[in-house]
Amino acid sequence: MSASCAEIAQTEEPQKVKVNLLGLSAEKLALFFADIGEKPFRATQVLKWIHQMGVDDFDQMTNLSKNLRERLKETAEIVAPEVVSQQDSADGTSKWLIRVNGGSCIETVFIPEKDRGTLCISSQIGCSLDCSFCATGKQGFNRDLTAAEIIGQVWIAAKSFGSLGPKAGRVVSNVVLMGMGEPLLNFDNVVDAMSLMLHDNGYGLSKRRVTLSTSGVVPMLDRLGDVSDVSLAISLHAPNDKLRNELVPINKKYPIAMLLDSARRYLEKMPDNRRKITVEYTLIDQVNDRNEHAHELAELLSDIPCKINLIPFNSFEGSDYKRVSNTTLSRFRDILHNAGHTATIRTTRGDDIAAACGQLAGTVNDKTRRSERYRRQDQEQPVRFVN
Ligand code: SAH
Ligand code: SF4
Repeated sequence: MSASCAEIAQTEEPQKVKVNLLGLSAEKLALFFADIGEKPFRATQVLKWIHQMGVDDFDQMTNLSKNLRERLKETAEIVAPEVVSQQDSADGTSKWLIRVNGGSCIETVFIPEKDRGTLCISSQIGCSLDCSFCATGKQGFNRDLTAAEIIGQVWIAAKSFGSLGPKAGRVVSNVVLMGMGEPLLNFDNVVDAMSLMLHDNGYGLSKRRVTLSTSGVVPMLDRLGDVSDVSLAISLHAPNDKLRNELVPINKKYPIAMLLDSARRYLEKMPDNRRKITVEYTLIDQVNDRNEHAHELAELLSDIPCKINLIPFNSFEGSDYKRVSNTTLSRFRDILHNAGHTATIRTTRGDDIAAACGQLAGTVNDKTRRSERYRRQDQEQPVRFVN
């Protein structure tokens, strides 16, 4: 007679779950080493091996004793998510499709420019917020990324450019949390991953070069200001609540006035009073692109230290929204300029490989079943425009 499951369970050694050191902040790594009775400088050494040398094999950590390396192998691991593919755009932009535990895939994009290299990373698998113009939102939501999966995107990109290590030139100079997901809805993991980006023994990026973009989860934005001082971008996209309710549904919970107050408080908490927030405004043809919208926006932001970033809507399959013309973009920008604002137009990069803002969709095992509803709605009736 064959053994029952219960018998097998009794006879087999229980599997030890190893701690993935990749996602531990410097503080958490120090605690891990304290727990196994090791001195704090061991944590510093391992932090550097992982994030500055790109090493994921304890045997290569030559300044650790053989005994410690063996102990680490028993209890810990360094595991980045798996790269499925890398696509390179004609304009130099690269996009990685990265498989995470559970089988879903996320996307990470690198945008090289003359004076910097910006990595756009994801914070969640899909997004629960369902903004009407965003491909990620239409994919539904699966789960939050772990801190290891978030920092793993930086690790993978930097390693692929050979730009890890003390002597390497820094290819990834800026990181923006503008990929898939709403970073403030995955607060703890995002904060841990950002702390590694900023840490001297991690990636050593300045707080001005790490930007978190949010659609406006106000209570979490207030918490962020207490624990971090990275650059902040808010996704506004409309100058009044009526229109914003249609485009960014979370506005019904946290309307514009609440969001702007919270952004002001964030700036006030910064030690350096010259900081500005970035206001993102995706311009959609015939939706939020009229002259009146530009005037209303200029007035709304008149007392907020900010720069306005105009993003031409990037199309994706299943959306009936249309991109604005270059003339509209310039006209909108000029109205803001004339009202005394700094406004720039974000150049679209990588749209030949669907790597532009809002086009990132990955492969989300959607738990909300929103993607199904969206596809059905798409077949039956066109997505309605906002007037
Ligand atoms: N969830 C966060 C960060 C990810 S989205 C947020 O909403 O801010 C990053 C930026 O891309 C946001 O400003 C978002 O509004 C914008 N975006 C989303 N879909 C877009 C599209 N189809 N075209 C252009 N920009 C888009
Ligand atoms: Fe989520 Fe941001 Fe897309 Fe809105 S724009 S659905 S918050 S990822």
